[in-house]
This record gives sequence, structure tokens and C-alpha cells, in this order.
Amino acid sequence: MSVLVWVEHNTGAIKDATLSAVTAAAKLGAVDVLVVGKDIGAVAVDAAKIAGVGKVLCADDSAYHHILPENVAPLIVGLMVNYDAFVAPASANGKNIAPRVAALLDVMQISEILSVESADTFTRPTYAGNVIATVQSSDAKKVLTVRGTAFEKASREGGSGSVEAAARVDDAGISRFVGAEISKSERPELTSAQIIVSGGRALQNSENFHSVLEPLADKLGAAIGASRAAVDAGYAPNDYQVGQTGKIVAPEVYFAIGISGAIQHLAGMKDSKTIIAINKDGDAPIFQVADIGLVGDLFTVVPELTEKL
Ligand code: FAD
Repeated sequence: MSVLVWVEHNTGAIKDATLSAVTAAAKLGAVDVLVVGKDIGAVAVDAAKIAGVGKVLCADDSAYHHILPENVAPLIVGLMVNYDAFVAPASANGKNIAPRVAALLDVMQISEILSVESADTFTRPTYAGNVIATVQSSDAKKVLTVRGTAFEKASREGGSGSVEAAARVDDAGISRFVGAEISKSERPELTSAQIIVSGGRALQNSENFHSVLEPLADKLGAAIGASRAAVDAGYAPNDYQVGQTGKIVAPEVYFAIGISGAIQHLAGMKDSKTIIAINKDGDAPIFQVADIGLVGDLFTVVPELTEKL
């Protein structure tokens, strides 16, 4: 089976989610990858070094500058004559591109796979991760998105793939890039951080959210996350949200601070290796998934913990 993986990058660096997608794809067969964008020669060279990658197709054109899915999807569909499966990370961009590819190929997409059982059978979560469905597809070509936390990351080194230009250019001319407001942070990215410090409604306001959590996160070199209640109340920006309708994370250590442990929050973090919960209510559901629990007032306990670290 031959598989084409779409490489997610920020023009400078390949995102970790791509490496998990390559691991998933390698369970199906020989892996080629597609790098799309503008001025992406260096990214293509890096992609060729990923362990297990055979060939890098490089579509370097202004039509692909901002990864407009209306342009990228037809490009992929054209390339799919040579492939049996298309694989993308289940990121915002991956989820924007893959369904279009599936629709244009007239096949179903299998979303956020957790495992590859065989060439046509996969597992994937439904009902916020409470049910794991085993899905078998009879489609001639498979279109899959991959949940990054479910697969090891392929090594960034060790591969010796060749780089080829993907000659075709598709500019559908039906969408244009207007602008992007990208939050800048010195902290690690939430989905690839080793340690995450997350805060909930209990922080009461934006000022507390930052003044209580940031010193702890700084000491630990951690990313900061939030519950939806904290995001909805404006304590934290949208891209901090962890959960069913936020980001899915599985760090080595996850601090849930003043977070009750609603099922929709757990859906985004329960695969974390070690969960540390701080909550003043000893009966809060978060303690059912926590490896380490501390019952206490976060406004006392967190500064104390930060101090002692
Ligand atoms: P609360 O549930 O209000 O919990 C606050 C906790 O803080 C309580 O346990 C309390 O005991 C504790 N506390 C209060 N004061 C202190 C103190 N001083 N010290 C220590 N502890 C204290 N939620 C998400 O997080 N992510 C999602 O992606 C998400 N998606 C959703 C999708 C849908 C369709 C729906 C319906 C809901 C979704 N939610 C999501 C919302 C979810 O149901 C909860 O409402 C939310 O997670 C609650 O956030 P919280 O734990 O911060 O707040």
C-alpha cells in the first residue's frame, strides 16, 4: 500500500503532529510526504530526513502560500492517482483539507484514528472518547486524519528521502487569504508540551489566571492550558482550551488547577501520563482520573508549590 502524508509546518519547522501521522501511515505501507506552501525548500529538505519517508513531493507556489484548502485539496486529489491512502494530522488545517480530499475522491473520511488494525480497519473515538469505534472501510482509497497523541512521533532524523517538485499548481481562485492573528508565546506549544499547567473557572479572573499559573509554568518550562469555562469567561485566550472542543493533549505531566473534571475537559487530557489535580472540593470528579491529588485552596497551594520547586 502506498500512502501520502500531508506535512504540517509553519514554513520554518515541521510540526510534531506530522511525525505522528508518519508513524500511523507507516503501519499501512510505504510513506511519501507532501510539503505545500511558499518558499518551503528548507522544509522539504527536513521532511526528507524524517525516518521512514521515501519521497518528498514539494508544491512550492504562491497559490499554496497560506495553505488555502480550496487550492491544496485539488492538488492532493491529483496526486492520489499514485496512492492508496491519504493521511493528515487531525489539526485545524488537517481537518480543513482532508474532508475536501475525501469528498473530491468520493470516499468517506475516517477521522482522528487512534490505531491502525489492518489496511482497512482503524479505531477512532466517538462520544468525546467514551466509546472507541472500530471502523472498517471498503473504499478503494482511504482518507484518514490522525490523533497525534495516539502515535509515537517518527524521528526527525534518519531518513534519506528524495525531494521532487509536485509540478501541478491548482489555484481555484475561490478564496483568498485576508490575514491571521497568531498569538505569540515563548512557552512550548500546548499539543507538544511535556508539561502543561491548566487552570479553570476557580481562578476567578484573567489577572489571577496569569499571576497564579505563570510562575508555576515558568518554573516547570510548561505550556499553559485552560478549561472552557476559563476561556469563555475571558480569563485565557481561545487557543488555550483543552478538551472535546479544544485541544487534545497527552503530556508527561498535566496540572489541573481549579478544574472540576467535566467529561468534556477529560476528553482532552485524560491520556496524560501523570495528572496532578488541585481542587478545594475533595469530591471533584477530576480526582477520579488524577494520579496525584491535592485538596486545598489553589490561591494558597499553588504559590506554595511554586515557591518550593
Ligand atoms: P467548574 O466546573 O465550575 O469547576 C471549577 C472547580 O474549581 C470546581 O471543582 C471547584 O471545586 C474548584 N474550585 C473553586 N474555587 C477553588 C479554589 N479557590 N481552589 C481550588 N479549587 C477551587 N470544557 C472544557 O474544559 N473543554 C472543552 O473542550 C469543553 N467542551 C465542551 C463541549 C460541549 C458540547 C459542552 C456542553 C461543554 C464543554 N465543556 C468543555 C464545558 C464543560 O462541560 C465544563 O463546563 C467545564 O469544563 C468546566 O470548567 P471548570 O472545571 O473550569 O469549571
